[in-house]
Amino acid sequence: MTMADIDLATPVQFLPKVGEKRAKQLEKLGIYRVYDLLTFFPRRYEDWSQCVPLFQLEHEKEQSFIATIVNPPRISRNRGKTTIFATLSDGTCSIQAVWFNQPYLAEKIKPHEEYFFHGRVTRDGFHFQVVNPVFDQRQKSEEQTSLIQPIYPLTSGLKQGHIRAIVSTALDRALPLLSEVLPPFFRKEQKLCAISYAYEKIHRPETMEEIDIARKYLVFEELFLLRAALGVWKQEQKEMKSSFPITASSEDAQTFKNIVEKLPFTLTEDQAKVTHDILKDISRPYPMNRLVQGDVGSGKTVVAYLAMAACAVAGYQSVFMAPTAVLASQHYATFKKFMGDMDLGIDLILGSTPAKEKTAIRNRIKSGETKILVGTHAVLSDKNEFPSLALMVTDEQHRFGVKQRAAQEEKSDHGIHTLVMSATPIPRTLGLVLFGDMDVSVIHSMPKGRIPIKTFRTSSAEDGRVIATIRQEVGKGHQAYIVCPMIDELQEDAYEDEEGTLAQAVKADLESAVSYYESLAEGPLSDMHVGLLHGKMKAKEKEQVMADFSEGKIDVLVSTTVIEVGVDNPNATLMIVRNSERFGLSTLHQLRGRIGRGNLPSACILETDKYDDVAKERIDMMCETADGFKLAEKDMLLRGTGDFFGTKQHGIPQLKMANLYRDADCLPLIEDAIKEMLKNDPKLTGTQSKIMLEAFRNHFGEQWMKPSL
Ligand code: ADP
Ligand code: MG
Repeated sequence: MTMADIDLATPVQFLPKVGEKRAKQLEKLGIYRVYDLLTFFPRRYEDWSQCVPLFQLEHEKEQSFIATIVNPPRISRNRGKTTIFATLSDGTCSIQAVWFNQPYLAEKIKPHEEYFFHGRVTRDGFHFQVVNPVFDQRQKSEEQTSLIQPIYPLTSGLKQGHIRAIVSTALDRALPLLSEVLPPFFRKEQKLCAISYAYEKIHRPETMEEIDIARKYLVFEELFLLRAALGVWKQEQKEMKSSFPITASSEDAQTFKNIVEKLPFTLTEDQAKVTHDILKDISRPYPMNRLVQGDVGSGKTVVAYLAMAACAVAGYQSVFMAPTAVLASQHYATFKKFMGDMDLGIDLILGSTPAKEKTAIRNRIKSGETKILVGTHAVLSDKNEFPSLALMVTDEQHRFGVKQRAAQEEKSDHGIHTLVMSATPIPRTLGLVLFGDMDVSVIHSMPKGRIPIKTFRTSSAEDGRVIATIRQEVGKGHQAYIVCPMIDELQEDAYEDEEGTLAQAVKADLESAVSYYESLAEGPLSDMHVGLLHGKMKAKEKEQVMADFSEGKIDVLVSTTVIEVGVDNPNATLMIVRNSERFGLSTLHQLRGRIGRGNLPSACILETDKYDDVAKERIDMMCETADGFKLAEKDMLLRGTGDFFGTKQHGIPQLKMANLYRDADCLPLIEDAIKEMLKNDPKLTGTQSKIMLEAFRNHFGEQWMKPSL
């Protein structure tokens, strides 16, 4: 491959200075192609343009300065820990620099050379000190490097200098290849810079203003691409297939009324309203596309049940898809309970269902006897042939990808009514981008009689009190969950610190559910029924444990996050999360949602011995509010798409520059521009559109592409 062949899709390995080994390291950062380097944006910048003479350094402030290393650095090693000391001077004054645990720096610090330093300075009389400063050699050549230093996320073996050099090479090759992605009228209207300027300046800025200009462009570009692709999708959906209209004869209506009266509770106002919306939607001859949103515990399940019951009564079939086998089994049991002695024709199909039973179920599906099929993604198998599939319900939609949504839609040649349930509190702005094509119903209020959950933080030093609390709750006849992170469920990458050393110690501290279960069952809780649940157990075992827990045969359930989603046991009043710093905000919120589901007071205890930084922020937020919408909003403000929406698992492409919360004001502008663009080129077949689609593909990856694009 020659240099001339390099384009945006070229694997990074073929760039000069990047070989197989570097390419492997870059892979860990999600960088595979030249394009990925362009969009590997700095996390932050250090402005070294504001250097001060040493004698002007201030106490307890982060500052930049230029200084020469006076003597060869002194290195001390103590119990495997390395500390490096060096004296720095600029002629006006001197300062002591100390680096802890960075032995590899020893050879980088060369005496009599001049460097830029940046770090937090402390002053004690005339004695200045700076701990772990970052530094960079000062160029002596004419061509001064910029004083604004981009700081990139790192991985083991890769240093800032390496990344900067590699990104720089990529820019030199790729900038001339970039075509303008945004329609000219839009760029002009919003006063956005040229694409090559934006990518150049985000990586190699000379002033902070340039970064702002570049960032503005990149935010618009990213949101535009996302919205445009989904916009086309939405248009395609309008050319809809016809669907089965679910209408009720007066006899059916009476049956339906009986079904509602059989429920073990009266519907809340919100539940009744949402049910009404759904029944209206599915009575039409074109497909419903509705999202039901409600915080954990708000009572979404019954709404889905009633929709499926209405279809069954009218003689049509429905499927209900849950993200885990545990949850699917639980829903199946709940629906059966709701039905009582009335048989609507319900079946459960899981990946683990024995072949013989599967065949029997498939025969019932084919004959139309099965009206409601509950299961995991196994419900979508091609082997399930539905003669009259009218409705598809997806529970906990955030657990499924957008892609799966497309698969569902393509499954049948007539339109299928789609109902999606989500506990993820999707702020309106985000909903606009993601579910622009969906109608949204919200269940605002919780069923009557709920008592707000109290949330506390503890450390392992207080284990004794936590055990006492468990004994107290179980003594009252209630049940408790204890959730532990499982070592092998966690990604190794999560432990890599900035300089890439694997923090083994962190791993050793983590508790696996199995060992904690054993220590409790044989120790302080030996007189109770303690159960264990984790992802590695066989499906049948898991179901048995869940059933035992629901029936009260287990007092305390030690588990991994397999119980995170959807599990419902109103008698459970205590949730203990061990090593809670290891869990993201949305997971913690989901876990807490397992309690407080009945009319009993309940408590959530977040145990952690690493109460600092992000973990502290997160745990404090959890202790302050139980409102999922508030948590999500705060999280987005702090961390872009944040824990709630940051991962692919949530079915949303990862944003690299824009923050849907902070940059929400851009969305209406983009919305208008896209309408304009689609008016001129409805099928996106023009040259400009092709460039845009190519950019979308590069930016978000093939998996987010609608097949027809
Ligand atoms: P989620 O919205 O998290 O899926 P569920 O549908 O599982 O919530 O409901 C949570 C709990 O509240 C369940 O135990 C359910 O039986 C109960 N519940 C639902 N609706 C009502 C209601 N109208 N009155 C009383 N309890 C209800
Ligand atoms: Mg649920």
